[in-house]
Amino acid sequence: MRVRFGVGSISFLREEMDVLGLKRVLVLCTPEQQDSARMIAKTLGDRTAGIHAGARMHVPVDVAQRAREVASRVGADGCVAVGGGSTIGLGKAIALESGLPIIAVPTTYAGSEMTSVWGLTENGEKRTGRDARVLPRSVIYDPELTLQLPPTLSVTSGMNAIAHAVEALYAPNASPVISLMAEEGARAMVQGLPRVAAEPTDEEGRTAMLYGAWLCGACLGATTMSLHHKLCHILGGAFGLPHADAHTVVLPHVLAFNAPAAPAMAAALGRALDTNSPARELHALGTALGAPRSLGELGLRETDLDLAVELATRDPYANPRPVTPEGVRHILMAALSGRPPAESGA
Ligand code: NAD
Repeated sequence: MRVRFGVGSISFLREEMDVLGLKRVLVLCTPEQQDSARMIAKTLGDRTAGIHAGARMHVPVDVAQRAREVASRVGADGCVAVGGGSTIGLGKAIALESGLPIIAVPTTYAGSEMTSVWGLTENGEKRTGRDARVLPRSVIYDPELTLQLPPTLSVTSGMNAIAHAVEALYAPNASPVISLMAEEGARAMVQGLPRVAAEPTDEEGRTAMLYGAWLCGACLGATTMSLHHKLCHILGGAFGLPHADAHTVVLPHVLAFNAPAAPAMAAALGRALDTNSPARELHALGTALGAPRSLGELGLRETDLDLAVELATRDPYANPRPVTPEGVRHILMAALSGRPPAESGA
């Protein structure tokens, strides 16, 4: 795919449309990001078919259907998705049925713009799949468009990106180049995170984080995720926990659990974070920067654990360490309490 990167790079949007042969695009956003969408649509003039501010977390099927109808009614020949994973996910839902090309303008660090993974939620259950049609044709990473992302969401979204790097480093289809990208992505993220948490309009910090998001998102797109993403998928889908918050709380505990079985991952992350204990370091960093620490804070109860353990162990999937009910319960108990991860993960 094509990528434009850097402060002010949104000015290349028309050029990207020309390269892709797009005449009139539908601009997608959430209700909260209409100002950014309007500003971008204005620069396109009559090459905007309209703005659809209907994106919602986890792409409910009725939300997807409405957006498809709007795209068809206004005669759009492509979509510009301005926002985080939810908005890009809506663009993907349109593309999945219509094949309309997506130009993604990411404003969080979730990484969806770099993957061919789509997700749709129906009756409380999220289905996901891969399809080449939903991979954005062009991505514009402009740090200026991330300056308004609230500090806490910036931190949790950055942790969400680091989670992609962690699981790419021990993925069954890991490769040397992806591992380099994962290590560099995690490094860029932890360099940018404290700067952005302290000063959300710090352009250099924002640029480092968006660079990290690009790398980590590419790792997500190129590899198969394991236990950590499985748990977060369950916590979001079955218990309604917020996506990036759940990633932030769970990551140090899965990392500690898997580290003994994934020494190359632990070493790479240790280099990126400049520590001998990446799990503890990530937990301490999240805490210091004001991110939620426990699943309890996010609304999970101890009585939810039986179902979570059952869902996480029902079907087999790749993970460096065998996934057992005891192991999953141990991780979830630690994450529920918010205590720092044990060094050995056991
Ligand atoms: P999000 O897109 O839901 O955004 C969270 C909130 O932040 C929204 O209200 C949004 O309007 C607001 N926001 C986003 N950017 C902003 C900015 N720059 N300034 C001010 N407000 C801003 O959150 P997310 O974490 O990016 O995405 C989560 C969703 O994406 C989940 O549904 C997840 O499953 C999905 N996802 C999919 C993939 C994939 O590959 N398919 C990858 C990652 C995430």
